[in-house]
Amino acid sequence: MSNNATKLIHSIPVDELTGAVSVPIYQTSTFVQEAPGVNKGYDYARTGNPTRGTLENIIAQLENGSTGIAFGSGLAAIDAVLKLLQSGDEILAVDDIYGGAFRLFTHIYQKFGIKVNYVDTTNAENVFTAVTPKTKLIWIETPTNPTLKISDIEAIARIAKASGCWLCVDNTFASPALQQPLSLGADIIVHSATKYLGGHSDLIAGLVVTKEKELGDKIKFIQNASGAILSPFDSWLVIRGIETLPLRIKQHCINAQAIADFLETHPAVDKVYYPGLKNHLNHDIAARQSKGFGGIVSFTLKEDTEEAAIKFVTATKLFKLAESLGGVKSLLCHPAQMTHKSIPAEKRRAAGVADSLIRLSVGLEEAEDLVSDIEQAFKKIKSYKPSKQKTEA
Ligand SMILES: *Cc1c(COP(=O)(O)O)cnc(C)c1O
Repeated sequence: MSNNATKLIHSIPVDELTGAVSVPIYQTSTFVQEAPGVNKGYDYARTGNPTRGTLENIIAQLENGSTGIAFGSGLAAIDAVLKLLQSGDEILAVDDIYGGAFRLFTHIYQKFGIKVNYVDTTNAENVFTAVTPKTKLIWIETPTNPTLKISDIEAIARIAKASGCWLCVDNTFASPALQQPLSLGADIIVHSATKYLGGHSDLIAGLVVTKEKELGDKIKFIQNASGAILSPFDSWLVIRGIETLPLRIKQHCINAQAIADFLETHPAVDKVYYPGLKNHLNHDIAARQSKGFGGIVSFTLKEDTEEAAIKFVTATKLFKLAESLGGVKSLLCHPAQMTHKSIPAEKRRAAGVADSLIRLSVGLEEAEDLVSDIEQAFKKIKSYKPSKQKTEA
């Protein structure tokens, strides 16, 4: 079942009660019962809310799964998946995992007796070698952040199946418009809906989708027991974002490819990371398992210093300096000083996050305007004087 705009737009239901074309926001905490336990399908809004339920059905359809569950943030979604495990279980995770997931796995779950092993999953054989009888969960992102590493979902799903453990894919960077891991054999996907699904940099939200209903019911139980639900209004905002997802993603991909092509031949640039470039590691796998290469482009400078990178990220005008990604407006960040600041420099560099690495979240402006913005920022690196740091324009 492939996603197209028609199917997606019509998976968003018209309200049966009133005919409202936009999904109603049920801003209520509780629901009247005719008699104890006799109700219209809802009793208390932590357990279930019709607006949230509509979003959950939409994302389950988009990801080709059975059950969708909406959370108050991407990390709350990840947290709920981890609560499937128990003390003594092990997780095998991609080595350049999202920093917030690393913090949760390492600083919260390890103290409850859950061990995490990090491996380079760009080669599926590394996963095969690292799985132990205690491995209960394999956790990958593809593409990863910020160097856009690609892993073979189908090959890793086969290893998970043969080893009797779950494969969870963080599908935030690709979105279901480009990649459906459950159709490739994964058991669970998570999203930070804060990014492409919401799409407008105006909310924090997370989603889980499971292939099997039984596993979905377990995570729903965990959510109801732990309480990290998404509010009705934010559920509505995510639905509103999803309406334009295919259109936005198409343009994000076109713009990002244009910028990656421009950067590849630029004299100020050393390496460019974009899965749509033919020389990107596992480009062929990305081309096979996804319908496009996404809106994130990272690159390093020939002058590989933090000073040069900081000069660049404060000189762009259209690209705004901010954490996060996936919105309409272009953003950029300097991982060494922002998202990856808590990682020791040697470890960070070893993971491919060089001192001058810059991550672009390419937005929906005209590609040629974005290219001009980058070009004018490059011109400022040469005349950079560390003592007179310019602030954000
Ligand atoms: C942002 C992000 C998260 C965390 O999501 P929040 O909504 O910020 O909690 C998880 N995974 C990836 C890949 C992300 O980019």
